[in-house]
Amino acid sequence: KKISIAIDGPAGAGKSTISKKVAKKLNINYIDTGAMYRAVTLKMLNKKIDLSDKENIIQVLKNTKISYKNNHIYLDDELVDNKIRTNEVSNSVSYIAKIKEVRDILVEMQRRISKNTSVIMDGRDIGSNVLPNADYKFFVTASVEERGRRRYLELKEKGINVELNDIIEKIKTRDKIDSTRAIAPLKKCKDAIVIDTTNKTIDECIDEILSYIVE
Ligand code: C5P
Repeated sequence: KKISIAIDGPAGAGKSTISKKVAKKLNINYIDTGAMYRAVTLKMLNKKIDLSDKENIIQVLKNTKISYKNNHIYLDDELVDNKIRTNEVSNSVSYIAKIKEVRDILVEMQRRISKNTSVIMDGRDIGSNVLPNADYKFFVTASVEERGRRRYLELKEKGINVELNDIIEKIKTRDKIDSTRAIAPLKKCKDAIVIDTTNKTIDECIDEILSYIVE
């Protein structure tokens, strides 16, 4: 039987780590929709497009190819899995993701990918907009301090030095733009189950999610 699972929530709540592992356990596809918005953002940064210049962004987007295959993201046929994870992309992506024309293209792609196959898809508008009929919807969240702390430790491990408070502020800004935009804002849908990861291990969160899934 084909199943679809929607995972939404704010930045840094652990959605992708959890989704990847649940996908493995259930032997279904994991789709990272944030990677697609990040790839569009990378293109605009590469071309030095002003992030508030909507017309220009839409024009450039017309000549841009985004593809997502086997959990890898390609921008104009170049593999950009690592290039989309920089601070610069993280701090810019919300300005690109609030543009209707950008969302129309990516949402269409996301629906197409999930049409004939079982998926666990993570993002901000999956349960509310991309897959409103998903079999399961989860809202994965954590306190902003904890999300900032995790991000800080991740960066530190990579040898990148940042201020914890600065990271927390950047996350707050991103969440604010994502949850107040006009189109498909980040929100918990009525029928989503909340998973608060603040004081839980990854494995506890995964077990909690799996406990709801009937195969
Ligand atoms: O999930 P991730 O943090 O990589 O997402 C990056 C950004 O992409 C989000 O902050 C948001 O602006 C945008 N996004 C979105 N809708 C989605 C997934 C991501 O607007 N479904």
